[in-house]
Amino acid sequence: MPKIQMKTPLVEMDGDEMTRILWAEIKKQLLEPFVDLKTEYYDLGLKHRDETNDQVTVDSAKATLKYGVAVKCATITPNAQRVEEYNLKEMWKSPNGTIRAMLNGTVFRAPIIVKGIEPYVKNWKKPITIARHAYGDIYLNSEMRVEGAGKAELTFTAADGTVTTQLIHEFDEKGGIVQGVHNCTGSIEDFARCCFNYALDSKQDLWFGAKDTISKKYDHHFKDIFNEIYENEYKTRFEEAGIEYFYTLIDDIVARIMRSEGGMIWACKNYDGDVMSDMVSSAFGSLAMMTSVLVSPSGVYEYEAAHGTVQRHYYNHLKGEKTSTNPVATIFAWSGALRKRGELDGNAELMQFADNLEKASVATIESGKMTKDLSLITSMSNPVTLTSEEFIKAIREELEKLQCGEAKDEKLIKLEEFLDCKTVAEKREVFKDMKDILDDKLINDIAASLDIVVDEGDIEKRYRSVLNCLNTMEKYETNRFR
Ligand code: NAP
Ligand code: MG
Repeated sequence: MPKIQMKTPLVEMDGDEMTRILWAEIKKQLLEPFVDLKTEYYDLGLKHRDETNDQVTVDSAKATLKYGVAVKCATITPNAQRVEEYNLKEMWKSPNGTIRAMLNGTVFRAPIIVKGIEPYVKNWKKPITIARHAYGDIYLNSEMRVEGAGKAELTFTAADGTVTTQLIHEFDEKGGIVQGVHNCTGSIEDFARCCFNYALDSKQDLWFGAKDTISKKYDHHFKDIFNEIYENEYKTRFEEAGIEYFYTLIDDIVARIMRSEGGMIWACKNYDGDVMSDMVSSAFGSLAMMTSVLVSPSGVYEYEAAHGTVQRHYYNHLKGEKTSTNPVATIFAWSGALRKRGELDGNAELMQFADNLEKASVATIESGKMTKDLSLITSMSNPVTLTSEEFIKAIREELEKLQCGEAKDEKLIKLEEFLDCKTVAEKREVFKDMKDILDDKLINDIAASLDIVVDEGDIEKRYRSVLNCLNTMEKYETNRFR
């Protein structure tokens, strides 16, 4: 069966540490056997960012603006310790920060829900997607500690020189603290449009809450912008799609979210999004089951996992230990990007593949096979904890079933090739090539053709025992020819 063809390339941003290892394995096992992957590759691994003076990050963001869809592996944000570890020329900025600034986007984070990993909030049945406004407020503040009595004022000097001043507070001799924060109308408008578009795209209600009763100018401005854009640009489309936009006070939203069954997008101001996304992700079970997509107001999408590079596991990996790192959020980053690419190109086959890849991942976990982070919290009674590699292979088996005909044909073709070999040495080479597609039936067929019996057990063990037989047979064959 031919591989699925892609029309337009995806922007592929490779990354660091354990997620970089998973990245390669996901491509090899779950993507390349099924899709003729077309990507424009950017290596955002820290070493290469340093070599290119971080130009590669900027280039990858530009490519994303050009092609419209990107998939990103987790990357290290350098700190002092990393500067030393990687002998960096500079403490480069966070790649996510750079990309976000260039795409001017909003980040949407949603948990992946599977049976057997129950949210701590028992009435949450559907994912809650957090949309965080990633600009301004306290993240770009100007703050001050004042040590004595005095007057703090807000001053705005207009472009024409007009000055407006307003009293903040008159401090007594004990002084205190002052903070100036801002946001920009343009940025809030972009944020609102990203949220409305994403709601239409994913057919989910959009909830937004701020503290407009207390912050009558600042938070009220957010509320007004959302309302105005909704009324003028989105109301009809929301009604047609059967979804709702709903504004209420942030406190009220929090109370309603806790009682809801989920299934909505929750638009949050910067700080609320920072705090609430941690609450939502931990309540849904595992950071490794959280997807993240950056959506720009112009309709550009960058998909990634919400977690980092899983440094602790990587150091174990470097020591030669097998790790049980969860690849699901990274797999979903790929499926999200492939589906979006398929949608933009009118490529139904690619979209179907993306759906199957997600289904296969969920089905594997629901069959009781999972990585350690999940087996520690699952409500299933006998979970099987697998290494990352074994888990990805298990997903591949499910995926092959879903992609049906195609993978089976690959197995048949290989079996015929094996049976057609003239010498044992040739058979052995073809057999080694088949390692990744072997299942019990295929091994039994091969064993029968060689007139040997292979004990039941795990595939890896059975593979090795057939290989041993082939090696022995080859020695015998060579001796015979001498
Ligand atoms: P992390 O990579 O998210 O990992 C923190 C801990 O969470 C891990 O040690 C592990 O817990 C658990 N965990 C996270 N993802 C997991 C997965 N897929 N499977 C199993 N367990 C998982 O955060 P970090 O260790 O604090 O940060 C490491 C590096 O990632 C840093 O250099 C940081 O700059 C970077 N980072 C990048 C991004 C990004 O690119 N988007 C985001 C955040 C952080 P146990 O150790 O208990 O097993
Ligand atoms: Mg946070």
